[in-house]
Amino acid sequence: MDSDRLKDYARSLGLDCLGIASSELAIPTKEKKICPLAAGQGIDRYTPQTLLENCRAVIVVLFPYYVPTEVPSNLSMYTQSIDYHLIIQNYLKLLQYFMEQEYPQSNHYLCADTSPLCDRYLAHQAGLGFIGDNNCFIHPIYGSYCFIGSVLTTVPLVPDTPLTKECFHCGACHKNCPGSCFINSNYDYEYCKSYLTQKKGDLTPPEIAIIKKLLSFSVVMNVSAFVPIINIFQSLQSQNFAKIEFCNYNGWISFH
Ligand code: SF4
Repeated sequence: MDSDRLKDYARSLGLDCLGIASSELAIPTKEKKICPLAAGQGIDRYTPQTLLENCRAVIVVLFPYYVPTEVPSNLSMYTQSIDYHLIIQNYLKLLQYFMEQEYPQSNHYLCADTSPLCDRYLAHQAGLGFIGDNNCFIHPIYGSYCFIGSVLTTVPLVPDTPLTKECFHCGACHKNCPGSCFINSNYDYEYCKSYLTQKKGDLTPPEIAIIKKLLSFSVVMNVSAFVPIINIFQSLQSQNFAKIEFCNYNGWISFH
């Protein structure tokens, strides 16, 4: 079944980044180190059928959240709105309701950064972007400033094709990482500021030093070649999403 009507409906809600991933996910042969905070490890990251029996496809939606600000802050940008889990859940419920109207026998399972599945891999498989050398999912326009939500469905929607595009491998994220997390082609979470600010328990003096290095832990996303500027931002609570310009690491390119 094609997903055109679903995509039209999503666009009417302001969701312009919706793709379909196959439920039969190929497990990457060479997986980089997994963040210790990830809910799933091993095969659980690639098996939607464990969450929804007879899962036949995964509907993946991006929620861009970049908010331009000139005021320095030690809070990550994603905390500067109401809890994104709530916003995403509401939109996913609308998509679920739409699917249930179209396919009354269908079943669904909603994931808003809450499941063991590897969200960025799902988004890549759904044709929405690619994985950068910084381990982040990157949308060609919105960059890494995207929340990822998914609706597992028993409806056999035809999967979209993953992009062949890659990041520029320019090395800027490696050079600028405050914790020097990049070791050869791997990423060491022990020194990752994002990880350290979320882990439980006491921090060691070296860990505290890493956290003090820079105010915002989004630095690895900020130096990437794919950083968006939102020039008409209407908050995620509304049904209008951002119109943005595309940033090339060497300068700004208007995108209309
Ligand atoms: S900074 Fe360069 S190497 Fe790092 S993810 Fe962005 S494009 Fe890739």
